[in-house]
Amino acid sequence: MQLDTDLIMICTHDIAGQLRGKAVPRRNLQSRAEAGIGWTPTNVFITSFGPIAPSPWGALGDLYIKPDFSAQVDVNLPDQNIKEAFILGNIKTLDGKAWECCLRSQLASALSRLQERHGLQLRASFEHEFHYSNTEAQPGLGYAYRAHRRLGAFPDRLMQVLETAGLTLDTFMPEYGPGQCEVTIGHQPALRAADEAVILQELVRATARSFEGRASFSPIVDPEGVGNGLHLHFSLQDGSGEPVGYDVDNPHNVSDVAGAFVAGILKHMPDFLALTASSVASYLRLTPHRWSAAFNNFGAQDREAAVRVCPVFQAENEEQSASMFNFEYRAADASASPYLILAAIVNAGLAGLDEGLKTPEITHEDLSELDDKELAGRGMVRLPQSLDDALTNLTGSDWAKASFGEVLVDAFNRHKRTEIDHMFGMSDEEVCEQYYKAY
Ligand code: GLU
Ligand code: MG
Repeated sequence: MQLDTDLIMICTHDIAGQLRGKAVPRRNLQSRAEAGIGWTPTNVFITSFGPIAPSPWGALGDLYIKPDFSAQVDVNLPDQNIKEAFILGNIKTLDGKAWECCLRSQLASALSRLQERHGLQLRASFEHEFHYSNTEAQPGLGYAYRAHRRLGAFPDRLMQVLETAGLTLDTFMPEYGPGQCEVTIGHQPALRAADEAVILQELVRATARSFEGRASFSPIVDPEGVGNGLHLHFSLQDGSGEPVGYDVDNPHNVSDVAGAFVAGILKHMPDFLALTASSVASYLRLTPHRWSAAFNNFGAQDREAAVRVCPVFQAENEEQSASMFNFEYRAADASASPYLILAAIVNAGLAGLDEGLKTPEITHEDLSELDDKELAGRGMVRLPQSLDDALTNLTGSDWAKASFGEVLVDAFNRHKRTEIDHMFGMSDEEVCEQYYKAY
């Protein structure tokens, strides 16, 4: 039963990749529609591990989180021991403007620029990999029905919970790693896609908890094992919603518009990588031969490409092929906020469109066999190999500062440098253990 005294939390998803907020009794929700709930700038420096990064604002300043009622989650399944009530919102300054460190607003403004400058929209969906604790983790059972059976009622209950929350069901699978699962949902306009990614992560955690287990979205749980990716699928549409990414006359059917967008992503990827792979552990995942991404390359049927053209299955005509055609960005994980992942992709793609870049060549070989010179000759680099290096690139990039604003870049850097300090002296195993708990 839902009482009007029951709490519902008004939340923001932050640099730490955590959903945080304050709860109000449901009966007061309408009165919070405009006023929201009070928020403090320094909250953006709360790391996932306890320490608060040095804040330029200290104890000063006031903000508020204004709820967006289109992003409300109410899942009440008492028989399943699940009760989730939260609303996603935007952080505002007291004069009602978007705060620079509000990641949801960052994405919204990147999307408006894409619309204003090129008349384009973006649809997207995330693939979520995670480790579930309540199963017998045995190697060799990737995609196995036996592994699926051992998950018990978890997958079915999860589908029920996701559908109750209004998400479009797609697939569930026991993934390759022992105890690893993956869930995918339908494509949505980009802002909604990021909302749904955040909602899905919380609902997976809630469902695992209802079985007294845990789900961890940590980028990698064992330094020798397989990573948990948060692959992003995306496609471009014109103002009337017609797909513009597909051109039957071009190599791999990639239209010039989509090619320029992808070229922008690959060009700026070494600079924005910290925003999509935001943890120390992320860089244990982003190594060759792990089916993640280690170079800023464009691939077709290649599960190690940074951006990949996805195959279209069973389309009946060109129109259908065009509507199903999409790209996948693979260098993302759940230590990053889905809002920031998408904002990075949109801002970088936008730069590619502004500059009219040419579609990058598709790579076919194992790039780890090329040296830096050979890579450079083909316009590629090995991506930053640590969070430290990725942050150095980010803070040194004029493009990043112009795209996200200096306030956010500085806050991100302070936050993540504190996280690096926290991990200092730890072995890879200890680092993985920290992230397992935090995500
Ligand atoms: N687990 C891999 C990763 O870390 C992805 C495997 C797949 O292609 O789904 O990204
Ligand atoms: Mg997968």
